[in-house]
Amino acid sequence: MQNNNQGKKPENGRSNLPFIIIAVALLLLLIFGSRIMQLFNSVGQEEVTYDTFLTAVEKNDVEQVEIGDTYISYLLRADAQEKVRTIYYTARLPGVELNDVVAALQSNHVEFAGILEDDDTSSLLFSWIILPLIFFVGMMLLMRVIANRSGGGGMGGIGGIGKSKAKVYMEKETGVTFRDVAGQDEAKESLVEIIDFLHNPKKYTAIGAKLPKGALLVGSPGTGKTLLAKAVAGEAHVPFFSISGSDFVEMFVGVGASRVRDLFKEAAKVAPAIIFIDEIDAIGRSRDSRFGGNDEREQTLNQLLAEIDGFDSSKGVVILAATNRPEILDKALLRAGRFDRRIVVDRPNLEGRYQTLLVHTRNIHLAEDVDLRKIAQATAGAVGADLANLVNEAALRAVRMGRQAVNQQDLLTSFETVIAGTEKKGTVLTDIEKRIVAYHEVGHALVAALRKHSQPVSKITIVPHTSGTLGYTMQMPEEEKYLDSKEDLMVQLQMLLGGRAAEQLVFGIQTTGASNDIQRATDLARKMVTQFGMSDQIGLMALSTVSNEYLDNQAYMDCAQTTAAEADAEIRKLLNESYDKAKTLLRDNRALLDEISLYLLQKETITGDELMAYVNADSAEKEKLKGADSTDKE
Ligand code: ADP
Ligand code: ZN
Repeated sequence: MQNNNQGKKPENGRSNLPFIIIAVALLLLLIFGSRIMQLFNSVGQEEVTYDTFLTAVEKNDVEQVEIGDTYISYLLRADAQEKVRTIYYTARLPGVELNDVVAALQSNHVEFAGILEDDDTSSLLFSWIILPLIFFVGMMLLMRVIANRSGGGGMGGIGGIGKSKAKVYMEKETGVTFRDVAGQDEAKESLVEIIDFLHNPKKYTAIGAKLPKGALLVGSPGTGKTLLAKAVAGEAHVPFFSISGSDFVEMFVGVGASRVRDLFKEAAKVAPAIIFIDEIDAIGRSRDSRFGGNDEREQTLNQLLAEIDGFDSSKGVVILAATNRPEILDKALLRAGRFDRRIVVDRPNLEGRYQTLLVHTRNIHLAEDVDLRKIAQATAGAVGADLANLVNEAALRAVRMGRQAVNQQDLLTSFETVIAGTEKKGTVLTDIEKRIVAYHEVGHALVAALRKHSQPVSKITIVPHTSGTLGYTMQMPEEEKYLDSKEDLMVQLQMLLGGRAAEQLVFGIQTTGASNDIQRATDLARKMVTQFGMSDQIGLMALSTVSNEYLDNQAYMDCAQTTAAEADAEIRKLLNESYDKAKTLLRDNRALLDEISLYLLQKETITGDELMAYVNADSAEKEKLKGADSTDKE
């Protein structure tokens, strides 16, 4: 069951403080700059009246005079010892000759000179040279700051200022080996050759063999692509350079390209080396207009292509790139001699998950009762990162509980934490809400238990979790299943809709809690009709194409509109039928539904065994009744 009022996460934007400070400083400078210049100029200036000037000349107080067309300025002998000498000035009276003044000055041996009056030279200087200069320097600073924020250089030569914010990482020795990567045997096999090449490039070049310059690691997030790349570097004992494609796209035009250039230069210096580009789709995305153009990205991509083509692979630089969206990559990247090797890093299967758990519990004290196989069974669909997280959560829980070792309960609880969020203590449901949630969950579980095709339920809970679930029903497949029959899927539909059916049957209401169930049921039904060819009406025609197998399996309808409408009708029919079946099943077992729901309300969490005990007791009772009936008749 899903809670619809989930809290919004706060946006975790980066701090804008340096920007704001620089911008404000610039603005202040622009506004008050001319005032500041005036202040400078007016230091030690004093305007006097014309007669004051004349008197000073007469008294022979004047040391030096400058005579312009419109004003006269002079220094006084009395100020000779001052550090900052006051310049006195006065407006020149129009039409009045200065013959007497000049004569007086001459007789007193005062230095005097005429000056050419231009405009105010200082303000000219300010507006034409200093202002643009300030502006320019400000812009430069801003660019630096932005470039550094979006990934400055980490190693020598790349970037300059702000190395601490580096996004290019270089590890001399990753210390990761294939032993740290569980499962993924096929991927490892493909990478062994590259390791050998890095060990001994001469062996290959001697024959004249050209090794692939790069390989593309393709797989869902968290499946261990970065880990594999690091392991390759670790196995080969070569330095590991890494950068993420998304770091490039926020930069200014040209910065990304130069960073690519520097990256390859650095790697070539210490070759053999591995260059790892995470999320290469961020720069390598197709230049089709379909995804919108972006100059910076194109430049960066072009530079990358040029570098890949340009470097001499015999030196031993191998580029590994990771993506979960190979289908949007530019074809140029995938051409022969570039990333022409594709290594699929799959979600782990049961054995892979078990191995991953083993790897991550290597350094963890496990209690006797721990059964990792069970955990592996319960975590179908989880990727390596989830499992690593799960083990760590379990260890944290053990510490919180003051225990010396991690036990099975820790692992199971943290499984719920990782999958369903931590138990939310604060949410208080009203009694009626709680009853609805209980019936809803038991509705799911009971349909699953009563239909023999279904997977057994391992746990039902109505304890709300922070992720927004108010309760959930956990199924544990007994074995990994790769094929589902139409019957399996039909039962799955009924089970998904069992929650809503129970609500409707018992309370006569429909709640928002079923929205996630309905979404999942609809998705499944749509797949059955448009991809699995399980509808008689549509037949064996595939109506949709899966465009992104590695990220979210999004499918796009690829058929005539009338066919699409027909498919919709089929989907609706499937859903309605399943809903009716679920409802009928629950109605026929109403006593059982009530009984288990009440028990769940009391205990809040019940196990699959407890559920099955109720179901089996009930069917035994029915058998007995039937037996009694038949003996009566005989
Ligand atoms: P990706 O790059 O595919 O998104 P990562 O390589 O970053 O995934 O994986 C994140 C973490 O998950 C790793 O650091 C590791 O702890 C764990 N992990 C993922 N896959 C595996 C695996 N096959 N074996 C062991 N640990 C794994
Ligand atoms: Zn539900």
